Amino acid sequence: MSSYKSRSWEVASFEDLEYIYPKHVLDKFPITPPNPFWKDVTPDEWNNWKWQHRNRVRDLQKLEQVFTLSQQERDGYEKTQGDFNLGISPYYSSLIDADNYFCPLRKQAVSHIDEIKVLETDMTDPLNEDGNMPVPGLTHRYKDRVLVTISSHCAMYCRYCTRKRKVSNPSESAHLRELEGMIKYIRDTPIIRDVVVSGGDPLTLSNEKLDWFLGEIRAIPHIEIFRLGTRNPVTLPQRIDQGLCDVLRKHQPVFVNTHFNHVNECTRETLLACTRLADAGCVIGNQSVLLKGVNDKPGDFTALNHKLLLQRVKPYYIYQCDLSKGLHHFRTNIETGMNVLRELRGHTSGMASPIFVVDAPGGGGKIPISPNYIQELTDDKIVLKNYEGNTYTYHQPKPESASMIPESHPSLSIV
Ligand code: SF4
Repeated sequence: MSSYKSRSWEVASFEDLEYIYPKHVLDKFPITPPNPFWKDVTPDEWNNWKWQHRNRVRDLQKLEQVFTLSQQERDGYEKTQGDFNLGISPYYSSLIDADNYFCPLRKQAVSHIDEIKVLETDMTDPLNEDGNMPVPGLTHRYKDRVLVTISSHCAMYCRYCTRKRKVSNPSESAHLRELEGMIKYIRDTPIIRDVVVSGGDPLTLSNEKLDWFLGEIRAIPHIEIFRLGTRNPVTLPQRIDQGLCDVLRKHQPVFVNTHFNHVNECTRETLLACTRLADAGCVIGNQSVLLKGVNDKPGDFTALNHKLLLQRVKPYYIYQCDLSKGLHHFRTNIETGMNVLRELRGHTSGMASPIFVVDAPGGGGKIPISPNYIQELTDDKIVLKNYEGNTYTYHQPKPESASMIPESHPSLSIV
């Protein structure tokens, strides 16, 4: 008798994952036990994204109750509230080491006094997104695609956010009139074929509002694809519920670009969220930011990217940390990123090797940076060095010459 277990298409619970993945895969994705602060919460509450959202860590009192704080973290909270608020879901708080100031997830989530240091070279809007805005909330920099920022809220406020100028500020969220303005611009601009829906986090909108917005744009004949930029699969994976997946299934093709930065963010909860998105027909990519003290050690990206592939998430970009104000303490030098690529390329599959980019200050777009594998390039040949340091020569195609055998030559006939 076959041991195959059948299931409905809906991935409703952790148990359903057992029908999809073998045990040795599931064992790599532990279920997250709540931080002791939430020890009395019921599983139904814990797995409900609305409960998670309502109960986020948003003030110093709760921050002190959940973590043992350093003075720099306490001062960081005092000095940054109002400019860039604090918000950490109970779920993400439970992934953080409550007693270790150097925990790589904690650095992403808990405010720090270093955030108030601003360098001369720092900028408010380093990618010049606001300067390329024909209508409020819509950036049109590249010919065939636009970025729409439809919410200024997020499940968690990442301390290295490049859009600090807007994110966490309720007055920056797009109102209905602005959403309608974006839709009209897209409808009136036939050259656009690709819409990047971002924020903040677009999944802070209700399923109904998101359905309406995506539906309006999907009805425009020249729009081919959506890209949804969301960190919810990482910071609030409970948000990827069946209702949301039903919405996304309606508006395909949808590419979801999410944002894992560290292997410790990959859990049974994120596996469930990514499985639901994949089963809804979404193609999932990951965009990490290279961050000092978070993911700049040798081995960090190999571990992360292997886990991403197990979740059916393709590592897509690694970003050099932008020149936004207050991010100085997160920035690494460019060589660190090149070393990450050297560590990945050839040593693991190309599937686990993303592109390393600098998003050019001033709005020049993403510029890829790669270690130099070319030793010599002439009209005749290219001499290349591989990941092990060995050299190889590839001969360039020659212009037509007498040495070439024409296709009609009798010696080429097949018998
Ligand atoms: S989820 Fe994205 S937009 Fe929101 S705070 Fe984090 S990096 Fe910024």
